[in-house]
Amino acid sequence: MPTSLTPPPKDDEIECGNCGAYIYHDLVRCPNCSVYLIEPGEAEEEHPAFRPKSKLALWVESVMRKLRGEPHVAEELFTGALREAALFDDLLKKAGGDRSVAERLIEYEKQLSPGATRLVCIQNAIRRWERENS
Ligand SMILES: [Zn+2]
Repeated sequence: MPTSLTPPPKDDEIECGNCGAYIYHDLVRCPNCSVYLIEPGEAEEEHPAFRPKSKLALWVESVMRKLRGEPHVAEELFTGALREAALFDDLLKKAGGDRSVAERLIEYEKQLSPGATRLVCIQNAIRRWERENS
C-alpha cells in the first residue's frame, strides 16, 4: 500500500504545519501535537483598525484629512454668510424694514470699530438697538 498518496484536507480542514495532521480549521490548537496554529496576535489581523499602518496608508490618510478639511472651511464660511443674512434680517426688522436705516446702523458700528467684520457690526448694531429700545 503506497502511503505517499495522502488525501487532501477537506474544505473545513487545514493541515497542521507541525505534525501534518488534518484538523478542523476553526481549531486554534492542533489536537495531535498541541501546537498553536494561530498566533494569539494573528487573529486581530481580521480587524483592520488594529493593523499597523504603513507609511503610505498614513500619507493617504493625511491627504484625505486635508481634502476633507477644505469643504469644512467652506461650510463654515457658508454658515457664517447665512448667519450674517439672518442677523441683517433681524436688524432690518428692527429698523422697520428700511434697508438704508439698517445699513446706516451697520456703518455707524463700523466707524466705532473699524477692524470689525460686517457680521460683528450687525451684531453690535442689534445689541445697541436692543439696549436703546428696551
Ligand atoms: Zn499538529
